[in-house]
Amino acid sequence: VHGRPLVYLDNAATTQKPTAVLEAIDAFYRRDCANVHRGVHTLSQRATVAYESARTAVKRHLGARDSREIVFTRGTTEAINLVAWSFVRPRLGEGDEVLISAMEHHSNIVPWQLLCAERGATLRVIPIDDRGDVILEEYERLLSERTRIVGITWVSNALGTVNPVREMIATAHAKGIPVLVDAAQAVPHLAVDVEKLDCDFLAFSGHKVYGPTGIGALYGKRAHLLEMQPYQSGGDMILSVSFERTVYQEPPYRFEAGTPNIAGAVGLAAALGYLEGIGHEAIADHERRLLDEAAAKVLELPGARLIGTARHRSGVLSFVTNGIHPHDVGTILDAEGVAVRAGHHCAQPVMKRYGVSATVRASFGIYNSSDEIDALARGLRKAREVFS
Ligand code: PMP
Repeated sequence: VHGRPLVYLDNAATTQKPTAVLEAIDAFYRRDCANVHRGVHTLSQRATVAYESARTAVKRHLGARDSREIVFTRGTTEAINLVAWSFVRPRLGEGDEVLISAMEHHSNIVPWQLLCAERGATLRVIPIDDRGDVILEEYERLLSERTRIVGITWVSNALGTVNPVREMIATAHAKGIPVLVDAAQAVPHLAVDVEKLDCDFLAFSGHKVYGPTGIGALYGKRAHLLEMQPYQSGGDMILSVSFERTVYQEPPYRFEAGTPNIAGAVGLAAALGYLEGIGHEAIADHERRLLDEAAAKVLELPGARLIGTARHRSGVLSFVTNGIHPHDVGTILDAEGVAVRAGHHCAQPVMKRYGVSATVRASFGIYNSSDEIDALARGLRKAREVFS
C-alpha cells in the first residue's frame, strides 16, 4: 500500500483471509458447485454435504449440542434481525421493554428501535462507567417484569470491553428473561461455549473470523427456534406449498429462505478449522501481548488518551490524540501503509458517552506482529510532527 508493506490493523471491521479459506472456496466452485437440498445429481449431493458439514463445523466451534440450532445468515446483523422479528416481536406488547447496553453496535440498537416503535414498547439502556464496563447494579435494576429480551455484546467493537456475559445471562435467567449475545467481536478472539454460557441466542459474522463476507450464523436454543415463525420466506424453507396453505420446514431450514451462500458456508467452516488449528489460548496470548504493546506505545504519544480502559479487553484499542482529528491520523497512517479505522465505528452512542465524535481504532488479529505495532507507533509520531 503506497509502496510500503501493509500493516493491517482494521481486523474489527473485517479480517484478511487465510489461504485455507481461499482454497476451500475455490475448490467448492471448481469441483462441487450446485444448489443444495434439491438435486438428486452428484454435484448437488456434494454441495449439500459441504453446506451441512459447514453447519456441523459451526455447531462444534460454538459448543452447541445440535446442528439444528445453527441458522446460517448473512452475518450478525441479519441474525439479530431474525431474533427481533421472529422471536421477540410476537411476545412484545405495549409498555414492554427491550434491554441493551450503552456500548452496542448500531446493528444491536436499530432493529430493537424499529421493533419497539412498531409495538409501542420501550428500549432501555444499561449505562457504562468511565472505563467502559457495564454497571452491573444498574443492569439488575433495569431487568423488570416488562423486559422481553436482553441484547448484549460480548466484546465491544468500539471500546474492546469484554462483558461478563455468562453472569449477565444468569442474572437475566433468574428473572425468566432470554438473552441474545452479539458475538461478532468475540468469536475471533475468545473460546465460545454456548452450552456453558446458556445464552438463548448468539450471533456472529464469518468475515470477522477470517472467513468470507455474506455469511454468518445464529445459534438459537432448539426450543426457541421451534416456536419461531419465519420472517423471510420463499424457496427451500417449505415442506409443501399450495395457494391455500404452506407448511414450513423444521428449523433451521425454515429460516433460510432462498438459495443460501453455500460457498460462504464452506469458507466459514475452513476459517473455523484454521482457528481451531491454532488454538484459542495461543490466539488470546498473542493478541493480549499485541494489545498491551500497542496501548503502551500509544500512551507514549503526547496528548494521547485511550477510550475504553475496561478491566478485561480484547482485540481493540480505541484512542484520541489531542489536537489531531482521528481522520487525519488515519490518513497519515495510511500513507505509511498502516490501516486503522477512524470514525464512530457504528457505535455513535458510545462516542457520545465519551464526548468525542470519533476515535482512532487499531484492532488486532492472529497475523499481526510486534513489528507492526512499531510501525503504528512510527506513523503516530509522524502524525504528531505534522500537526505540531
Ligand atoms: N456487532 C458488533 C459488535 C460488530 O462489531 C459488528 C460489525 N462491525 C456487527 C455487530 C455487525 O456485523 P455485520 O456487519 O457483519 O453484520
